Amino acid sequence: MEQTLVIVKPDAVARGLVGAIVRCFESEGLVVCALKMVWLAQKEAEGFYQVHRHQPFFESLTRFMSSGPCVPMILEGEGAIGRVRTLMGATDPHKAAEGTVRRSFATSIERNVVHGSDSAASAAVEIPYFFNRLEIVPAAGRDNSPSI
Ligand code: ATP
Ligand code: MG
Repeated sequence: MEQTLVIVKPDAVARGLVGAIVRCFESEGLVVCALKMVWLAQKEAEGFYQVHRHQPFFESLTRFMSSGPCVPMILEGEGAIGRVRTLMGATDPHKAAEGTVRRSFATSIERNVVHGSDSAASAAVEIPYFFNRLEIVPAAGRDNSPSI
């Protein structure tokens, strides 16, 4: 079982797309095991996107990510990291495959509605950036778990 961090970004929250985006993942069998709303300060967005600190879009990206509330969540399932990346689609919505979340909802390469961890190493850093252990309820072992 794998866990990955997904964020419904501020553009999607402002447009009322939280439910639609969660549905895209749940309908593919991924299970929500943590979810909340936070409004990041720009410094907190900078911390999250540290790997991009030398990119020309870093200042704009972190301003966007702190422009309103976002909804981070942990999704769990077999191969969850790769499956979420496939369901999200390419960073640039114009290049994203038909039916993907970004192709369906995103408006630009920056305002692309969703984040997903790109590797197990990233997920291991990104999950505790938003959630402590008490806030995570693994799907495995739940009475109503789809895996039972
Ligand atoms: P994310 O990390 O948010 O899941 P990603 O892995 O598809 O997206 P990255 O290369 O990690 O893409 O870029 C992080 C985010 O920075 C993108 O999702 C997008 O919001 C923004 N971004 C990436 N490239 C550009 C660009 N050329 N111009 C503006 N914003 C960009
Ligand atoms: Mg990325």
